[in-house]
Amino acid sequence: MFKELKDLIVKSKHLIFFTGAGISTESGIPDFRGPSGFWKTNKPIYFHDFIESEEVRKKSWERSKDTKDKFQKVEPNIGHKAIANIMKKTPNSHLITQNVDNLHQKSGVPDNQITELHGNSTYAKCLECEVRYELAPIYKAFSEKGKIPFCDECGGIVKTATISFGQPMPEEEMRIAQAKTVLCDLFITVGTSLVVFPAAGFPQLAKEIGAKLIIINNEPTDLDAIADLVIHEQIGKVFSNFSID
Ligand code: ZN
Repeated sequence: MFKELKDLIVKSKHLIFFTGAGISTESGIPDFRGPSGFWKTNKPIYFHDFIESEEVRKKSWERSKDTKDKFQKVEPNIGHKAIANIMKKTPNSHLITQNVDNLHQKSGVPDNQITELHGNSTYAKCLECEVRYELAPIYKAFSEKGKIPFCDECGGIVKTATISFGQPMPEEEMRIAQAKTVLCDLFITVGTSLVVFPAAGFPQLAKEIGAKLIIINNEPTDLDAIADLVIHEQIGKVFSNFSID
């Protein structure tokens, strides 16, 4: 099984990794959408409400700060590192992720080889002009003065750079993910149950254009039946001692 995985990776000319929450749970980040996930006990904040209400924005910044305090020491795990290593040695490889934790970047995958479908929680952006803001000064002003951020450039609302419930998928990222997928010959999903659409459409698209599909997840997924190789294991176990020359 692991030999087959390695052979397919080595033969691939256009490899795509597609990752979800499962890869980061082994770094101690909970699966927000899973059965015991964050969203089962905390009511999601919808994008529309964030835009409309200052109270909701305050609540959102408070929650974001709490989460940040809790997870600031989180590091990439063996799965992140193995993927970074494989991508370094595989020309034309690309990573599409549903995660917002920045751990793939931290493990050494260059920005231009990563497409983040749900954004990134480690910085903020103006919703109007998309200028980037760092979180530390925002949290400082919030805890000391209860101030929530507006854009210095255009006065727009500043929000963490994640895609919230009810917020449209980012057009540019969706376009890049699609363009990369139609070129791939091997598509490997890691740690995602493949139920969140439209993101879960990418492995299906890969199959449609004739690429091989490998699914690595610790439990069955909706697309196991169409995959060329299915590995139901802990991700760390799959990638421990895994190396390509
Ligand atoms: Zn702005």
